[in-house]
Amino acid sequence: MNRPPHPPLPAATGTVTLVGAGPGDPELLTLKAVKAIAQADVILVDDLVNEAVLAHASPVARIVYVGKRGGCASTPQAFIEKLMVSEAQQGAQVVRLKGGDPLVFGRSGEEIEALQKAGITVQVVNGITAALGALASLNTALTHRDHAHGVLMVTGHAKPGDPGTDWRALAHTARQAKLTLVVYMGVAAAQRIQDELLHGLPADTPVAIVQHATLPSQRQALCTLDCLHQTLTEQRMASPCVLVIGDVLRGLASLGQAHELQSALG
Ligand code: SAH
Repeated sequence: MNRPPHPPLPAATGTVTLVGAGPGDPELLTLKAVKAIAQADVILVDDLVNEAVLAHASPVARIVYVGKRGGCASTPQAFIEKLMVSEAQQGAQVVRLKGGDPLVFGRSGEEIEALQKAGITVQVVNGITAALGALASLNTALTHRDHAHGVLMVTGHAKPGDPGTDWRALAHTARQAKLTLVVYMGVAAAQRIQDELLHGLPADTPVAIVQHATLPSQRQALCTLDCLHQTLTEQRMASPCVLVIGDVLRGLASLGQAHELQSALG
C-alpha cells in the first residue's frame, strides 16, 4: 500500500515575549514572567532591569544587554527590533525584558508593530510599573475618593524635536478633574515641570520623589510643588525617580509619615 508522503515538518517558529521585570525588587516578578524567562533561548535585557531576575533564565540562554551600561550609548532601537525578528525567524524563543511594565514608556508599541509586520508572534507579560512600586513603598494609594479621581502617568522626556507635554494644560486638568500626576523621566526637566505646573496647581501641592523604588537603595523625599527642584538638588536625587504630585499624598503627611520619611533621609 502506498503511504501518502509525510507532510513537510513545519519550520521552527520562534516567538517574542515582551516581559515586564517590575521596578526593581525581583520578588515583584509575575509567575508568568518567571516562566517566560525560564523558557527563553535569547533574552534582551534593558536598562533598569534588576539582574537578579536572570536567575530564572536557563544556563544556556543567550543574554544580550541592550541598555546604556557603563556609560555606553544605548543600542539603537532599530537594531533591537532587527535582532528580535532575526532570532525569532531562526526559531528562538525570545524574551525582551524591560523595567516595570513593558507597556508604560517602554517603546513596546513600536516593537509590537515591527514584530507583527515581520509576521512574528508576539506576546506581552505585564510587570509592576515604577509608579505602583513607588506608591506601595509609601503605603499610599494613587487614587482616593476624596482627593483623586484618577491618575495620569506622563513622561518628562519627549523625543528630540517633540515639544513634549503641555504642563500648564496638564496642571489645570489635574486640578479640575482631581488627578494624581506621576511623572516618569522627569528629573532632568524638573525645574521646568515645576514652573509650568505652578500655573495651574497650588504651590503647596504635595510631591513625593521616589528614587530606586522597591530596591534596597530606595530613597524618597516629600516636598511641595514649589520646592520640587530644590529638593531634588539638595537631596542629590537622580534618575531613576518617579515624581508623584497630588493631594493623595496629604494623607501621608497627616499620618505623620512625612516626618518619618524626611528623617529617614538623615
Ligand atoms: N516601563 C517602565 C518605565 C520605563 S521609563 C515602568 O513601567 O516602570 C524609565 C523611567 O521609569 C525612569 O526614568 C523613572 O522615571 C522610572 N523608573 C523605573 N524604575 C524606577 C524605580 N525603581 N524607581 C523610580 N523610578 C523608576
